[in-house]
Amino acid sequence: MTSLPEKTNKKLGLVIDLDICVGCHACAVNCKEWNTGGHMAPLTDLNPYGKGQDGVWFNRIHSYEVECEGNQANMTVHFPKSCLHCEDAACVTVCPTGASYKRAEDGIVLVDEDKCIGCKLCSWACPYGAREFDSDQGVMKKCTLCIDRIYNQNLEEVERVPACVSTCPANARHYGDLSDPNSEVSRLVAEREGYDLMPELGYKPTNKYLPPRPRTDSSPGRAPEASPAPEPENRLLRWLDRALSR
Ligand code: SF4
Ligand code: SF4
Ligand code: SF4
Repeated sequence: MTSLPEKTNKKLGLVIDLDICVGCHACAVNCKEWNTGGHMAPLTDLNPYGKGQDGVWFNRIHSYEVECEGNQANMTVHFPKSCLHCEDAACVTVCPTGASYKRAEDGIVLVDEDKCIGCKLCSWACPYGAREFDSDQGVMKKCTLCIDRIYNQNLEEVERVPACVSTCPANARHYGDLSDPNSEVSRLVAEREGYDLMPELGYKPTNKYLPPRPRTDSSPGRAPEASPAPEPENRLLRWLDRALSR
C-alpha cells in the first residue's frame, strides 16, 4: 500500500462554475487533444467508429435535469468531472505498487505507468469515477492537472494553465492554488460558497464546484411564459384544433 505525504506545500486544483458551464464539451475534447501526446502517454480510442468503442477520457461532462422547488422551472446542469486531486486520496493508499502517488510539492495525484500493474484497485477505491483504465496498454491513467503545461517554461506564462481551462469558451473553469486564501480560486470559492463533492466520504477533494445560482422570473434570457391561444368559435375547428394539439 502507498503512503500519502503528511503535508503538501500547495493544493493545485480546479474550480468549476456549474452556473456557467454550458456542456459544450470543449474542455473534454481539448483535454483529450492535449493528453493524446502528453506526459502520461497517448490516450487510447479503440475501435472508435465500430461496435463496442472503448476510449480513455480524463474529463467527462454529465448533464442532468434538476427539479427546482416552488414555481421555478427545472434547470439543466452540466457537470464536468475529472480527478479531484483529493487530499486523502483513497486511490493512492490502496495502490499495492506505489504507482499511484500524491506529490508533496503541489498536491497533484499522478500514476507512474512503469509501476502500474493494472490491478484496478485504485478505480474501485475512487468514489468519483475519475480513474481511466487504458485497456490497450494495461495501465491506469487519470487527469494530471496538465503538469506538462502548467510547469512548461517554453509556453507563454498565460498558457501555463490546464488545457481544459485554456479552452473553456464560457470561462467556467479556473485553476490555481487552493491552499492560498488570497488566490483567485480561493476567493471564488469563498464568494460563491464553493463546495466539495461528497464531503461525507472524507477524501477532501481539492477541486471545488461553484453551485448554480437560483433562477428568478426576471433572469436574463428566460423565455416569457406562453399564453394559451384563443380557441376557435366554430365547433368543428375547435375539435380539430384540440385533436391536432394532442
Ligand atoms: S468547455 Fe467550459 S462550458 Fe464547455 S463544457 Fe467545458 S466547462 Fe463547460
Ligand atoms: S478523485 Fe479519485 S482518482 Fe482523483 S485523487 Fe480522488 S480518489 Fe484519487
Ligand atoms: S487538468 Fe488537464 S488532464 Fe485534467 S481534465 Fe483538465 S485538461 Fe484534462
